[in-house]
Amino acid sequence: MKTTKRKIGVIGCGKVGMGFAFATMQSGICDQLVLIDKDMRRAAAEAEDLRHGLCFLPRVTEVYAGDYPDLADADIVLITAGAAQAPGEDRMALLRRNTEVLEEIVGQLLEVHFEGIYLVATNPVDIMARLARQLSGAPARRVIGSGTILDTARLRALVGEFFSLDPKNVHAYVLGEHGESEFVPWSQVSVISKSAVTVCHQHPERFPLASLYELEAKTRNAAAELIEAKGATCYGIATALVRLCDAILSGDNSIFTLSCHTGGAYGLRDIYLGVPAVVDGSGIREIVTLELEADEKEHLRRSAHYLDSMYADIRPQFV
Ligand code: NAD
Repeated sequence: MKTTKRKIGVIGCGKVGMGFAFATMQSGICDQLVLIDKDMRRAAAEAEDLRHGLCFLPRVTEVYAGDYPDLADADIVLITAGAAQAPGEDRMALLRRNTEVLEEIVGQLLEVHFEGIYLVATNPVDIMARLARQLSGAPARRVIGSGTILDTARLRALVGEFFSLDPKNVHAYVLGEHGESEFVPWSQVSVISKSAVTVCHQHPERFPLASLYELEAKTRNAAAELIEAKGATCYGIATALVRLCDAILSGDNSIFTLSCHTGGAYGLRDIYLGVPAVVDGSGIREIVTLELEADEKEHLRRSAHYLDSMYADIRPQFV
């Protein structure tokens, strides 16, 4: 039976899962946090390690290693289980390995009649989110992939640095696949209520347009560079996911670029890819339809086509 306690489950206690768990404890966004990993000893040790910090935290979160029945009444289950991208490895190379992991996890969640929100971060995240929806049969609003939330955050940080502004004052989105075919619709990037491209045209010496456009490649390559240098990425995505879960639990109608079921938005019928969406307590409230330029629409269509062909590799009968 659902209680009034805000409860989040994390499946996969690796770098991303534990980065999320640590940040969740620090921010106190939920009352209960359940950790699950196929390595149960590890999950138990991680939970105990987190509990050792409790007396220093402003709010107490009950954290424990559990099993699937503990997730029956969770509001959100974050799935970060699976193999991570190896240095130089394409996200799509993970596809088959992580498909099996997801099948097992969703099967277990169905067995305990989980009715909360599936939040998928395992890569390739757009494929995994679509697969989670197909396997679970849950309504589209309840199955969310982290999509380009992190890429968008990286872009906003870079654009903020470029214009010497707090990234919170930069409006920008990375759309499409969380991966190589993602792109920045520059027509939608604005600072101080002005198009960023217009600001560059007005002050070409201070803000060269070519340098602004370079930020797109920097954003796209950020993950690969970090993986090359430190083996994985975790803090950026963990921070983004905590904020997203906070928005879901508090129902504050914030907008994030997430991997959502498009359901006809942007002319894309049945696919998962990164688009801006309003999030409330029930998950995806609605997809935001941006006024994209013709070349941007084409870019999104190409990214969708690429993801569709990847999905066909694992589920040809559903494409
Ligand atoms: P990791 O190897 O550190 O952790 C993965 C964990 O999953 C391990 O503890 C492993 O024991 C567990 N696991 C594997 N199979 C399981 C199963 N069937 N049930 C329960 N637990 C299982 O990996 P990581 O660095 O934490 O990355 C996790 C995933 O997140 C990867 O797919 C990675 O590519 C992805 N990721 C996504 C983003 C994003 O923006 N969406 C960013 C970074 C990483």
